Amino acid sequence: MQEGGPAVRTDRVALVSGGNRGIGFEICRGLAELGLRVAMGSRDLTAGNQAVAEIEAAARDRVMVVRLDVTVETSARNAIALVQTQWNQIDVLVNNAGVYLDESVSGATVPIAVVRDTLDTNLIAALRLCQEVIPGMRTRRYGRIVNVSSGYGAYGAMDGGGVLAYKLSKLGLNAMTRVLAAELGGSGVLVNAMDPGWVRTRMGGRAAHRTPKQGADTALYLATLPANGPTGGFFRDRQQIPW
Ligand code: NAP
Repeated sequence: MQEGGPAVRTDRVALVSGGNRGIGFEICRGLAELGLRVAMGSRDLTAGNQAVAEIEAAARDRVMVVRLDVTVETSARNAIALVQTQWNQIDVLVNNAGVYLDESVSGATVPIAVVRDTLDTNLIAALRLCQEVIPGMRTRRYGRIVNVSSGYGAYGAMDGGGVLAYKLSKLGLNAMTRVLAAELGGSGVLVNAMDPGWVRTRMGGRAAHRTPKQGADTALYLATLPANGPTGGFFRDRQQIPW
């Protein structure tokens, strides 16, 4: 049950991109443990099925693996169609899939192809998935969209230099969050972004001080917000933070 709020409705359906490992996996596990039905997006079905096997049996029954490469339009469409065929609807979308391709590269030298690939995965693909699910959410007057962003997506992070492609992608994701939230005001669809902090995953590396479960926590909170919950916000540790 959400702290201080009503019980989470367990007939909700969530789609999580990049759900086979890292933070995305813990978001899938957490949502299933809360009682939602979860479509775990995974580019590789074997990796997805191996990940699902790690979820405790009771929650595992509520998880389905769907093949989803977010950068491929037909893959995104097919994944969404499959979830809608099986479970009729998508109430929660978590845009978690992400790449970090320009660590230790200066903005002055980063190859344009790297910038393009980063924007494609971290921003354009997230927008595409939003556009696919928003019509149904509007019709049902319920939707929760969670964009897994980064502290690198805040304006304050630009001063440090470097990591230009990744920063641009997350800054764009934050902007997209604000624009869609404004457009969807009063529709029952809440759109928020979050920073998981520095998390021990393949992306975050071994030195990171947070566990994937800790990184996933704010996404679980935003995915199950009550009707009067915030929209258009940027969150860390369940608290709103500056852009
Ligand atoms: P991770 O362990 O590297 O996992 C990334 C996930 O994204 C994997 O499931 C990967 O799938 C998937 N993915 C990448 N490209 C994809 C594509 N084209 N289509 C579908 N899935 C794709 O990273 P993570 O640390 O869990 O990161 C999750 C999110 O948190 C990202 O958006 C990241 O930017 C954000 N974040 C992470 C940290 C951190 O410290 N870790 C900090 C701030 C923000 P495959 O297994 O198929 O590669």
